[in-house]
This record gives sequence, C-alpha cells and structure tokens, in this order.
Amino acid sequence: MAAASAGTPAPDAGSGNAARVLSGSGERGGTPIVRLSGVGKRFDSGTLALAALDLEVGRHEFVSLLGPSGCGKSTALRIIAGLSTPSTGAVEWLDPAHAESRTDIGFVFQEPTLMPWATVFDNVRLPLRLQSGRRNGERRSDAQVRDDVRAALAMVGLEGFERAYPRELSGGMKMRVSIARALVTRPRLLLMDEPFAALDEITRFKLNNDLLELWRREAWTVVFVTHSVYESVYLSSRIMVMAARPGRVVAEHRIDAPYPRDEDFRTSARYNEYCRIVSHSLAAAMDASERQ
Ligand code: ADP
Repeated sequence: MAAASAGTPAPDAGSGNAARVLSGSGERGGTPIVRLSGVGKRFDSGTLALAALDLEVGRHEFVSLLGPSGCGKSTALRIIAGLSTPSTGAVEWLDPAHAESRTDIGFVFQEPTLMPWATVFDNVRLPLRLQSGRRNGERRSDAQVRDDVRAALAMVGLEGFERAYPRELSGGMKMRVSIARALVTRPRLLLMDEPFAALDEITRFKLNNDLLELWRREAWTVVFVTHSVYESVYLSSRIMVMAARPGRVVAEHRIDAPYPRDEDFRTSARYNEYCRIVSHSLAAAMDASERQ
C-alpha cells in the first residue's frame, strides 16, 4: 500500500487526522536527495521483507521508519545504504554528491560493533583506513587522519578518550564511539538502525538531544529506524509507520513542532498529542500485520 500523503494518516491507520491539524514550524525537507520507487525485497528464503516501498527523503530531513519487528525497516535502510539490492523497484540518487560517492553515507548499527582489541582512536579511524586514507581521491596525511578522528570524537563528546579500549566504556559511550566512526568520513546522510534501543532511558534521552543538536548544527539528513513511538516523535520531522507481512508503509506523519526540541517539548501537551496519534497509527499497523 502506498504511503498516505503528507500529514494524512492512511485510511486504515485509524489515527484521525490530528497530525495535519497540529501544524507548526518544524523542519521541512529540502531538495530531494534519494527516492525509492516501488522498492521490494524478497530474500532467497522466500520471505517478502518489503513490498513496493515509495519514499523520498529531502535534504536536512529527519525521517523515522517506525514499525513492529520484522516490518522491513532494516531492510529498507540497508537498501538505501547499498548494503542490499532491491528485488524490485529502484533507488534513485537525486543529489549527485551521493550518487558519486557512498562515503557521503554514514551507517550506525544497533550494536556498537567495536573491535575490542583496538583503542577508541583506531575504531573510529577504521572507515578512513578502508578508504585507504583518501578523501575525494586525495591521500590524507597522518595529521589529517588524526584531526578527522579527533573532530569526530569531539562531536560526540568523547575528547580525551582516544586511548581507551571499548571494555573501559559504558554502553552509551560505546554507542558514541560507533556514531563517531560513522561521522569520521563526514557523511551528509546518516542512516541509523535503532542505535539507542539497548540503552537505558536516561542515556537514550541524552543521546537523543546530542543527536538533534548535531543534526541541526551539521545540517545532516537522517533516516532513523526505531520501534519507539516516543523516540520517533521527539526526533523526527516526518515518521513513516510500517506494517509487516509484507513490510510496507501504512501511514505518514509530519511532526511540525519546531526545533530545537528539548525537555520542555518532551513534557508538553503537544508532544503527548503527537505520541497519541502516532501510537494509534502504530497499533493499526500492527493489527494490519496480524491480519495478513
Ligand atoms: P525490521 O528491521 O523491521 O525488524 P527486517 O528488515 O530486519 O525487519 O526484516 C524483515 C523480514 O525479512 C523479517 O521477516 C526478517 O526475518 C526477514 N529477513 C531479514 N533479513 C533476512 C535475510 N538475510 N534472509 C532472510 N530473511 C530475512
């Protein structure tokens, strides 16, 4: 099923149309950078993970893919990253910078997946080594590599931890290292696959705030996978609600609350109202999944 138009829940999403009513001054997507048209994925096992996904992501949007386990969120993200090929449909890069170079994409996985035997510095340096130390075809000097790694660590608030090992870090710090590793190549599109799902609530809130701050400051575009209504409403300018069997988008909500968002927003009536609407939408998506 195709996504409902902006701010209008799909007919079976069951959430009313308050998302459209609550208009405001949230970030709107700029020039489209990537378009998925009718993207489907059937694995060799026969599982139809994704059916005909249409999604356009604009520059500097913060788009969340929200849905129950198994609805194809990770599959969609991996297809955008080029880590998996679609069985049907097409992924079109509308921004030439992205079309030319996948180094413009950073990917953050659910698990930090750090090399335990390597220092924080060496973990963050890994993508630069995989690029043979080159940026835009030019070889980076050791000093540039060091500066890039330090800049990435500074972005996530881990200055001074270069020589620490993963075992010495908390869960939140490990995830910060993982984010720094995704940022070290200075991507403009960040793909995040439930990056904070395993963290306690306080750490998660803090990382949510830090991520939003970085997103605004660095003018990134983010596609964020989550199964948390509360997280998706707090972070996103747009939420795509997905259902399973097969994975598909069943509703789309614009979260038109202005940025910067902070704890006042998290405790506001407006935030609660958005959470209520999106929760209804997710419940309807889960019903739709069960009926398949
Ligand atoms: P989500 O991220 O929403 O939890 P996934 O994209 O991981 O969902 O998976 C969607 C469906 O595809 C699930 O039924 C999952 O079991 C299946 N799937 C994912 N990866 C593979 C794979 N490599 N081979 C076979 N089936 C897969």
